[in-house]
Amino acid sequence: MKFISTNKKSEPVSFLEAMRKGLAPDSGLYMPEEIPVLPDSFWSSVGDLSFHEIAFEMAKPYLKDELSDAELQSVIDDTFNFPVPVKSLADHHFVLELYHGPTLAFKDFGARFMARLFSEKARKEQQEVTILVATSGDTGSAVAHGFYKVNGVNVCLLYPKGKVSKLQEQQMAALGENVTALEVDGVFDDCQSLVKQAFTDEELNDGMQLSSANSINIARLLPQSFYYAFALAELQKKGIGQPVFSVPSGNFGNLTGGLLAMKMGMPVQHFLAATNVNDVVPEYLNGNQFKVRDSIQTISNAMDVGNPSNFARIQHLFDYSDSAIRNHLTGYSYNDEQTRETIREVFEEEGYLLCPHTAIGYRAAKEYQKEKGENVPLVTLATAHPVKFRDVIEPEINNRIEIPERLKVWLEREKKSVPIHKEFKSFKSFLLAEFR
Ligand SMILES: *Cc1c(COP(=O)(O)O)cnc(C)c1O
Repeated sequence: MKFISTNKKSEPVSFLEAMRKGLAPDSGLYMPEEIPVLPDSFWSSVGDLSFHEIAFEMAKPYLKDELSDAELQSVIDDTFNFPVPVKSLADHHFVLELYHGPTLAFKDFGARFMARLFSEKARKEQQEVTILVATSGDTGSAVAHGFYKVNGVNVCLLYPKGKVSKLQEQQMAALGENVTALEVDGVFDDCQSLVKQAFTDEELNDGMQLSSANSINIARLLPQSFYYAFALAELQKKGIGQPVFSVPSGNFGNLTGGLLAMKMGMPVQHFLAATNVNDVVPEYLNGNQFKVRDSIQTISNAMDVGNPSNFARIQHLFDYSDSAIRNHLTGYSYNDEQTRETIREVFEEEGYLLCPHTAIGYRAAKEYQKEKGENVPLVTLATAHPVKFRDVIEPEINNRIEIPERLKVWLEREKKSVPIHKEFKSFKSFLLAEFR
């Protein structure tokens, strides 16, 4: 299977090559040349399969030229070694809890899968690689943990100073070894722009093998399609039909994973694109132009994205038809006050705790149900464990949230990050000095 750039000017490459490159040379994002459709028999009996079996069947068409069945199986077994519960709330509303991995956020799925593929590739080729990651918090910790002590791979994380939680920062900056954390004097979009510039800088690319691990990486995207099919499987077991998925979104990698599953034949009614006030995509879905903006800081900070990269992939998936995109997706956006209100109400009424990101998805699901009737089965993707955002949540619920022991250890460790400016020059000299 070959992978092509959304900008259509770069050569098609294999999966592992697309993973290594991250961004295509023409600055486009990699997508499969054609999307494999799994047979109806797979989808109609997906409820009989385990998470690992679903992941294997969905990954195989993309990776079969490069990994043996046994290699792929071991990547999958290693990656998904944590539970994926589907909780049932009132009125046909389900929550797909994607936060039971090591860093308590859905990004563990993509980051762990990719880290294990890089490790397979490094083992086969014996070549060192430097991974650059711009993060607004959760990506960085998931990637850092996914790659920690993986042979042949250096990881360099860029996060905006003062804009990630203490715990997120510690989960990136306290690791050391092959993981370097850079504290950038700027916002997330500055971090993302530094990484993009590095990939197009000739001197850097001559001197070292650079690669990305952001949600733009195809190896991060692919596993984010598996859990949609798994949610469908869990509903099938309960005799419930095609759901609507509500996806709290920032850079839109998570939602693109769902659309990929749909293109592989997954039966689904609709998708909800739920954002905070960084509502570039909901605005577009409401009939306006797609217009990128500077990001605005909110309490759902992992979704503070003013220029969502994966929109290019969504356009590609629907052959650049605005009407096709709008037929499959409805946008919702909420401000911080509405987010807080939702956390409070859902805790009081359903006894269920939501992180600020998930709260936005939850609220969109409820609003959609109100419009369409309560028989519509809704699945909200829960993207982070509430404990990661307890500063926001505790005042709303008038209750303490206990920090699990496995997280507490991070808060006590030494922070080892390196401060840098948002100008490309200082980032470049750091890279050349450290990794060339
Ligand atoms: C990254 C993240 C999101 C946004 O996901 P995208 O794939 O960037 O749309 C939402 N919630 C949490 C907790 C995240 O870490």
